Amino acid sequence: MSSPDVIVVGGGIMGCTVAWRLARAGLSVCVLERSVPGAEASTAAAGILGPMMEAEEVGPALRLGLRSAELYTQLAAELRAEHALEIGHRVTGLLRVALESEAGGETELEAHAARLRGSGLAATRDVALLSGEEARRREPSLAPEVCMALELPGEGQVDPRLLLPALSMAGERDGVRFVTDSVVREVLVRAGRAQGVRLDAGPLHAAHVVVAAGSWTSVVPGVPLAAATIAPVKGQVMRTHARPRLLERVVFGAGGYLVPRAAGDVLVGATTEHVGFARGVTLAGLAELITIATRVAPRLQSCPVLDHWAGFRPGTPDGLPLVGPTPVEHLWLASGHYRNGILLAPVTAEILVAQLLGQPLGVREDDASALDPRRFAATTETPQTPESAP
Ligand SMILES: Cc1cc2nc3c(=O)[nH]c(=O)nc-3n(C[C@H](O)[C@H](O)[C@H](O)COP(=O)(O)OP(=O)(O)OC[C@H]3O[C@@H](n4cnc5c(N)ncnc54)[C@H](O)[C@@H]3O)c2cc1C
Repeated sequence: MSSPDVIVVGGGIMGCTVAWRLARAGLSVCVLERSVPGAEASTAAAGILGPMMEAEEVGPALRLGLRSAELYTQLAAELRAEHALEIGHRVTGLLRVALESEAGGETELEAHAARLRGSGLAATRDVALLSGEEARRREPSLAPEVCMALELPGEGQVDPRLLLPALSMAGERDGVRFVTDSVVREVLVRAGRAQGVRLDAGPLHAAHVVVAAGSWTSVVPGVPLAAATIAPVKGQVMRTHARPRLLERVVFGAGGYLVPRAAGDVLVGATTEHVGFARGVTLAGLAELITIATRVAPRLQSCPVLDHWAGFRPGTPDGLPLVGPTPVEHLWLASGHYRNGILLAPVTAEILVAQLLGQPLGVREDDASALDPRRFAATTETPQTPESAP
């Protein structure tokens, strides 16, 4: 295999988006994926684009999330116009609801609304607090128990099951080489600089290495992080179907969410479990999802269970991703996006490509710095063997 300019480790949404954007910038890029593109968290995701729902405070996560949601509009248009690919991008709006039986639910919604309105950001202009009746006028299938709702009209969704094939296909057409069934055993580091990676077939050298291995990033040997820095947080999801369509907006409530797709499917998510890499759907997980669904929209009770699955969100100690340079020269990370990796993929690629090429950032300097992987860095060096020499 000839040496590319950039090796990307992992073909999830981060690897696919970064690789495609680097290829568009004129670099030769090879994605090494141990399975197939989108095999892990990225296809398991519900695809909510909810920067205002997710941000716990006004700061980098909110600003970068809003920027990324904006970039999705361009990304969807680009994929449609240049590649005839659809990703299910819809700005449907989102309701966060409070239920009568939940202590403090209304107070939380009021505080959330006040925080967003106080941010002074244009995107928060249309944020509104609704009574239970007003919420049911928007979404008649909401439970009578819904007593208040926070309306976020700018939030939306994509369908990861369309998005991941679209990104890898667009990348391939623009020159990205995808190598599947290819496990990266180690990032080769010599004299403080990344040389490439070691595969079962031997070394592959490149000028730059980007590790985008999701929940497995900090266990790839050669990545200068303590092994537990990025840790899996399991999430289970269930898919049901309602005809006619029961909901128009994404709804958060009862400790979970409902995501209505255009053709009537409704995703019910998601559990949050710290169980290491224990795969699979459990009865306890399904029971939790059924409770969420039927408390928020009781009419879902008569809908069929069509599918269920689980995935591992890449969690980090401070809740922010690791995007950018490492103490190892020419080794970059794009990982640790926890529950917002679908949302944050376009802005992650925008930041990483600008940094790698030494170009101006499209976002505030301090927002990009908040994601700097060097805040968690540990030292690493690959002992030199004859096969690892470039
Ligand atoms: C149930 C659930 C619901 C979610 N819902 C949402 C949502 O609604 N909105 C949102 O924004 N985000 C959501 N997320 C979060 C989002 O899915 C993740 O943040 C995102 O997918 C992470 O992408 P990634 O590319 O970093 O990781 P992954 O998608 O996990 O990709 C990493 C890839 O690296 C490969 N890999 C690992 N190690 C190696 C190696 N050594 N060699 C080669 N390849 C390797 C893996 O096979 C995998 O394909 C959800 C996640 C879950 C689990």
